[in-house]
Amino acid sequence: MGKIRVGFGFDVHRLVEGRELWLGGIHLEHSMGLLGHSDADVLIHAICDALLGAANMRDIGYHFPDTGEEFRDIDSKILLRKTVELIGTKGYRVGNVDATVCAERPKLKPHIPAMQVCLAEVMGIDADDVSVKATNHRKVRFYRARRRYFRIRDRAY
Ligand SMILES: [Zn+2]
Repeated sequence: MGKIRVGFGFDVHRLVEGRELWLGGIHLEHSMGLLGHSDADVLIHAICDALLGAANMRDIGYHFPDTGEEFRDIDSKILLRKTVELIGTKGYRVGNVDATVCAERPKLKPHIPAMQVCLAEVMGIDADDVSVKATNHRKVRFYRARRRYFRIRDRAY
């Protein structure tokens, strides 16, 4: 059996009006969407970073720069598929994914099974090997403190 490695990914995107909301590879009906150069699927971006980190292959911005016109409004599922291919070049494959989405709105719970199926299909693994958890940070003062950070990251992937 080969070496088992674990990676961690983190991503933040601002929720704005006039954008479609894509999360976990699926489209969610909502009045706002995430701002970004790609479709801004924050969950997929964090997964890509975790996979790249596990393989010690830098990060999503390194492989898919937000200055690249070819990545403008790109479906992040394509980036995830490319990421799985990238780690494959070093002999790694995805064992399982465990992810947490922090969002106040919309309610994500009803959409989690569809996200699991979608993400698993893109990565070529079983839906049972994809865990998606949802939480909100309404109970802590995290959100306001992060506003400055959100602004800095406006141009992030
Ligand atoms: Zn991102």
